[in-house]
Amino acid sequence: TQYIYNFGGGSADGRTEMRNLLGGKGANLAEMASLGLPVPPGFTITTEVCTAFYDNNRQYPDGLKEQVAAAVAHVEGVVGKKFGDTSNPLLVSVRSGARASMPGMMDTVLNLGLNRETVEGLAKLSGDERFAYDSYRRFIQMYSDVVLGIDHHNFEEILDIYKEDRDYTLDTQMTAEDWKSVIAEYERAVEDDLGRPFPQDVEEQLWGAINAVFASWMNDRSKTYRRLNNIPESWGTAVNVQAMVFGNMGDTSATGVAFTRDPSTGEKAYYGEFLINAQGEDVVAGIRTPQALTKVSREKMGSSDASLEEAMPGTYQELIAVFEKLESHYRDMQDIEFTIQEGKLWMLQTRNGKRTAKAALKIAVDLCEEGKISEEEAVMRVNPSALDQLLHPTLDPKASRDLLTKGLPASPGAASGEVVFTADEAEKLAGEGRKVMLVRTETSPEDIHGMHAAAGIVTARGGMTSHAAVVARGMGRACVCGAGDIRIERDGSGFTAGGRTVKPGDMITIDGSTGEVFMGAVETIEPELSGDFAKVMAWADKTRRMRVRTNAETPADAKTARGFGAEGIGLCRTEHMFFDANRILVVREMILSGTDSARRAALAKLLPFQRDDFKELFMVMRGLPVTVRLLDPPLHEFLPHTDEEIAEVAKSAGADAEEFRMRARQLSEANPMLGHRGCRLAITYPEIYEMQVRAILEAACDVAAETGDAVVPEIMVPLVAMKSELETLKARIDGVAKDVFAEKGRTLDYQVGTMIELPRAALTADVIAEDAEFFSFGTNDLTQTAFGLSRDDAGSFLPHYIRQGVIEQDPFVTLDREGVGQLVQIAADKGRKTRPNIKLGICGEHGGDPQSIAFCEEVGLDYVSCSPFRVPIARLAAAQSAL
Ligand code: ADP
Ligand code: MG
Ligand code: MG
Repeated sequence: TQYIYNFGGGSADGRTEMRNLLGGKGANLAEMASLGLPVPPGFTITTEVCTAFYDNNRQYPDGLKEQVAAAVAHVEGVVGKKFGDTSNPLLVSVRSGARASMPGMMDTVLNLGLNRETVEGLAKLSGDERFAYDSYRRFIQMYSDVVLGIDHHNFEEILDIYKEDRDYTLDTQMTAEDWKSVIAEYERAVEDDLGRPFPQDVEEQLWGAINAVFASWMNDRSKTYRRLNNIPESWGTAVNVQAMVFGNMGDTSATGVAFTRDPSTGEKAYYGEFLINAQGEDVVAGIRTPQALTKVSREKMGSSDASLEEAMPGTYQELIAVFEKLESHYRDMQDIEFTIQEGKLWMLQTRNGKRTAKAALKIAVDLCEEGKISEEEAVMRVNPSALDQLLHPTLDPKASRDLLTKGLPASPGAASGEVVFTADEAEKLAGEGRKVMLVRTETSPEDIHGMHAAAGIVTARGGMTSHAAVVARGMGRACVCGAGDIRIERDGSGFTAGGRTVKPGDMITIDGSTGEVFMGAVETIEPELSGDFAKVMAWADKTRRMRVRTNAETPADAKTARGFGAEGIGLCRTEHMFFDANRILVVREMILSGTDSARRAALAKLLPFQRDDFKELFMVMRGLPVTVRLLDPPLHEFLPHTDEEIAEVAKSAGADAEEFRMRARQLSEANPMLGHRGCRLAITYPEIYEMQVRAILEAACDVAAETGDAVVPEIMVPLVAMKSELETLKARIDGVAKDVFAEKGRTLDYQVGTMIELPRAALTADVIAEDAEFFSFGTNDLTQTAFGLSRDDAGSFLPHYIRQGVIEQDPFVTLDREGVGQLVQIAADKGRKTRPNIKLGICGEHGGDPQSIAFCEEVGLDYVSCSPFRVPIARLAAAQSAL
């Protein structure tokens, strides 16, 4: 088997399409090499080796050693150097690279192949002793940290003390002799820690680094990242070994990162940062403040440090020619890593760049209008879940604000929260339902869980491409980076900025679009959705097959949803109307009344309220279908709790309080979720649904009479398990309809249907469809009843299931295709068999989840219904699933 794919020297074994095998980095390095771009030669060890390694008790497959040796020899041939040679040494980097970019993975090791002897060879060969020893000390530091597990702080401390003793402020002041002394101290520190010297054998170094990459696939950071991003464990990572090029060879050398368009706004402008005489991660680590790529952005930043465009105009021109080539080749915005060695440009990575939702929309629209991609491709380019960011609030321009400090606008959106300083604290407080702001000097992959839990993130150091910025944009968290005057107390007792002190627990607000940080909580406002957003949505609407409705019961929510493009209401929960303060008393009167006639009297008081509710709602939704679900929750939920409340109800009903108390006790249930609720209420107390149906139809008739434009009421019966339940209730509903139409002197179209939310209903959907004109899948309850678990109680075990991988995703967030999905499929098939044009929809929260929406498309549902703010997400997801 071929375990290794070579690249460089103008050709490559792999290509972009092989990312599953080669990982994203390896596949794109191969592609760039084939395109004739300057890529240092190297090779990729495939993800299959990783999978085999774990399947096989952490043993490598036979033949891998030989293939690695041959690949090293190949690289030696291309660059004309030898790995481990004392006079002409080849140095390599060892880089991890999974299919999806994964910040939890092993850090890259640079300058591998250096030891006490080869470093002398490198010094002679380059004629630059300082450079050689600088490279060696970097290698010891990185290799020790990443492969040997010795914390990098040990080395930073040694260097800091060394510099302090000599009054140095910058690394550039260090001479070759200085580095040699530091290296001696580094080596001693390693030996103290490990009990053996820093490995001098270059083969041992190479395999140590390869092992570390494969091992990092199963470290906690990677596992957390995979869990949060739904990346399967079975994918594995690849390892890239690549000849080194050096950005730290003096003032004509540099290293940098760039985007072919602005990742924050989507603007068609080159965007990037670089550092002269630096290597690898220096730019993103926030150690020195990087310089801007272009003159324009340097001026915008108000910086006096020359941009690359100004400092190295020739190389800059070469670089932007590469940008253009890559962007038209990949037909998408690229995120690029490059190094300049003594004036010569080298490409070290390219990938489709991460971007904010705003940028995603702008780039998709621009690329389409530039003729690079089609409308359908543009629709596919925007991640529906990311639209959520745009629906996020921004600061109210009229709100008063108290500016504390300013950093870089790293990830848009406005957010307020209590100040915390550690990821663990952030997670803990967020778990208690508090909003927190994570404030850190800089972040690392170990902080991901805290960043996820936080409403926003502030860092004191780091640029727009720092870890904090990249991760926050991906997660849609507001983030301000590099707020340079923030000083965090080491003991976590607070931070200072702008001469003021902020304590943990104090409220601050950030604006991730401007980089501003404010004291206190600042008012926010909702965003406007036009321009690029509207264009992409219009293209999505052309493409999608399924309709998108909303779950709404108030006119305000219905209006919002219509504004977002909802095409009807898929679920109007009538019980919400019962909880209203001035109605709950009447509802309780009705429930606690022992006789039919007393109940009817109470219901008669409720009727006008309900009718007015529906009238208002139907006005908003004129011309569209509205599914109204008849009363669903257990009566239990409406019961008065205290003696005073019972007395109040009894007084209003003119009844005896003691009698009501008895009845309340009778009505309380051990397991209300599976108790006296849904259609079971209507079988025992038919008058409740009769009142509701009357209210719905009277309201619909009134709206039709007033406007000439009616809604189409779809009357939905919840919690049906058996055909006989629906058959009985449908007869009563039709009876009420006949009465109402006779009284009003007009008729209108209405439908009667049912929720499918019990497994028995799904399995007998063919007979239920004899009476149901539509099914709406109530997948929240269907998930509860199919799994036999109560959502309210699942908090104590479901998180463990997910963490341990017993279940991959929360079934209440993403529909469980295997089980619950099968019930949906069965019910859809059986329903259509009986009634070929039966209308099918989903109204559980899954209706707003893109993955679940894709499933709904596969089953061929007619519509999905979701909360108002998820309507745009559902429109886009529905379009993507239809393509
Ligand atoms: P990450 O996945 O964290 O971005 P990379 O493997 O891309 O890690 O390595 C990080 C940085 O290290 C690169 O951007 C580049 O600057 C530097 N680097 C990696 N390999 C080489 C190499 N062969 N020569 C010079 N620099 C390298
Ligand atoms: Mg990289
Ligand atoms: Mg339900």
